[in-house]
Amino acid sequence: MTHDANCIFCKIVAGQIPAKKAYEDDQLLAFHDIAPWAPVHVLIIPKQHLVSHYDVSAEHEALLGRILVLAPRLMRELGVTNGFRTLINTGQDGHQEVQHLHVHVMGGPRPWLRG
Ligand code: AMP
Repeated sequence: MTHDANCIFCKIVAGQIPAKKAYEDDQLLAFHDIAPWAPVHVLIIPKQHLVSHYDVSAEHEALLGRILVLAPRLMRELGVTNGFRTLINTGQDGHQEVQHLHVHVMGGPRPWLRG
């Protein structure tokens, strides 16, 4: 599995820095965002190091599908009942801060801090 020793999310996958995990399997990890915009704000990431959504290809179809199927399941498990927002920031103009593909999933009662 691709791993970048300098990547903060790879370090979370490797257990080198802590995160509040919401879900884990052999391919995916979900954890709570350290600076949440909403009452519930999780990030779903592939365990393999993929820099951004710009870097995916047909070989990642199943992986991306798993992420989108996991999102509503997680929201249900975390008590979100009134809808949620799913967001992927890609590259510099997309305001991507962490260079490891991640899907933001946010929910809970408004108002939210952002988003
Ligand atoms: P983006 O702008 O899409 O790259 O967002 C990166 C997100 O990662 C931001 O919402 C950060 O708050 C979040 N983040 C950065 N470092 C950590 C961390 N160590 N644990 C949890 N979330 C993090």
